[in-house]
Amino acid sequence: MPARTGKEFLRGLRGPREIWVDGERVIDVVDHPKLRGAAQALAQVFDLQHAHATTCLMPDPETAEPIAVSHMIPRSRDDLVRRGRALREVAEYSVGLMGRTPDYMNVTYAGFAGRPDEWGAHGNEAGAERLVAYQKFLRRNDISLTHTIVQPTVDKASGDAPGPGNPQALRKVGDTAHGIVVRGARVLATLAPFADELAVYPAAPLPTGADDYALSFCIPMGAPGLKFLCRDSVSSSPNLFDHPLSARFDEQDAFVIFDDVEVPRDRLFIDCNLASYNSVMTTSWPANIQQQTMIRASVKLDFAWGLALRMAGAINAADPETMRMIGEIWAYAELTRATVAAAEAEAREWPSGLWTPAGPPLHALRGMLPLWFPRVTEILRLIGSHNLFATPTAAQMADQDLRSLIDRYLPGAKGMSAEERVRIFRLAWDFAGSALAGRNEQYERFYLGSSQRNLSRHLTFTDRSRADRLVDRFLKEPY
Ligand SMILES: Cc1cc2nc3c(=O)[nH]c(=O)nc-3n(C[C@H](O)[C@H](O)[C@H](O)COP(=O)(O)OP(=O)(O)OC[C@H]3O[C@@H](n4cnc5c(N)ncnc54)[C@H](O)[C@@H]3O)c2cc1C
Repeated sequence: MPARTGKEFLRGLRGPREIWVDGERVIDVVDHPKLRGAAQALAQVFDLQHAHATTCLMPDPETAEPIAVSHMIPRSRDDLVRRGRALREVAEYSVGLMGRTPDYMNVTYAGFAGRPDEWGAHGNEAGAERLVAYQKFLRRNDISLTHTIVQPTVDKASGDAPGPGNPQALRKVGDTAHGIVVRGARVLATLAPFADELAVYPAAPLPTGADDYALSFCIPMGAPGLKFLCRDSVSSSPNLFDHPLSARFDEQDAFVIFDDVEVPRDRLFIDCNLASYNSVMTTSWPANIQQQTMIRASVKLDFAWGLALRMAGAINAADPETMRMIGEIWAYAELTRATVAAAEAEAREWPSGLWTPAGPPLHALRGMLPLWFPRVTEILRLIGSHNLFATPTAAQMADQDLRSLIDRYLPGAKGMSAEERVRIFRLAWDFAGSALAGRNEQYERFYLGSSQRNLSRHLTFTDRSRADRLVDRFLKEPY
């Protein structure tokens, strides 16, 4: 099947699955009031790839059927630039508010399938072959994939990864004729209600003896025993005037329980192979996936800058402090755009022929964005002040008596209509203050680990020789 349409995507979501939202087991995610908006938005993402086919679609290398460019295994710098354009097109649809549109996992699995050398090391040749075959299935069926890679946090003093005997973390508990049985839990599957399949792959390295926890696989969302507990919905009523963002962009996040789930062997990519588990994420994965995450962030920051300018314009706030704060958002946006460009320009080839952007610029940005995004929110709220709440609803605007009063008493500066002013500040509140905004700020702080964790580990990702050379000149000169 070639790249899917929105209608085909929605049809795929109607199968059986155990999704819990607000105390209710949801039978139909497409029509549920808390999920409908995002389901329709994601359907539009699938439609968008056909509307912008030149940017978003390419022929499958073997079947020549059209597939999403995000499934491409990049083989050159030009491929990466092409993929970047497609990722930007998708990110612009939700102005970067949906972090886990299916292109996120498409890029991840293209990166995995482009490294059979790495996945096949440590005696895992069969797992690597199955992974490459799975990626073909993914791209040819245009599957929407969610993922869960983080172990549940019970006692932080015991470290990030489960030690032998840990009863909460996901582990293998048996073999069957056709595969294995897994038990345990993982956090946090964003996009779960809108996915066809769930991916499990490594994150924090496991300690010696924790072989049973060393797993990587993909299974359909409806696999018996698989349960998803969604966080409280931040989706609001479908009125796009009242809630232009939270009516459609709540991508959801779910705690995942594997209550003795069978994983078929052909979906098993790492089966209790500790060396493989601890190595496959350490080289090309971060730079590959961060092309998607940073392009999304770049779009979101451009949007925030544009929004701040409109807010200031609506009340003619042209004082130096307001302009300085808006300039701060612009600087974050521009630095992010430039970092992505630098990473693409300095792209590199891996031994298997896979190309990724350069890692260090993206890692540096990854450390800073969790600090920048909360500041952007703060700036928008400072510029907006009480104006964020002088925002009549669509129903109030539709009332004839009220409308003439609103038009008279709530215009914007320099002849701006009341309607335009209200729309600007409603959009701003949905972006910076609503329940969706709160969730999104948490997402930006943690989606690939905290800033603290990423910055404290920066030596893992970069080469210090240039900096050492500059310092050594002074430390080693004769005196
Ligand atoms: C909205 C949202 C969506 C998510 N979606 C997904 C998903 O789709 N799939 C998935 O697998 N996971 C997902 N996650 C989980 C995410 O991957 C983890 O939250 C992330 O890895 C950080 O988890 P952590 O508890 O290890 O954070 P940590 O990095 O441990 O940070 C927690 C706190 O500890 C502090 N800290 C950590 N290390 C240090 C240190 N060395 N020194 C000082 N302080 C430190 C940090 O400052 C921070 O305050 C999501 C998370 C969120 C919030």
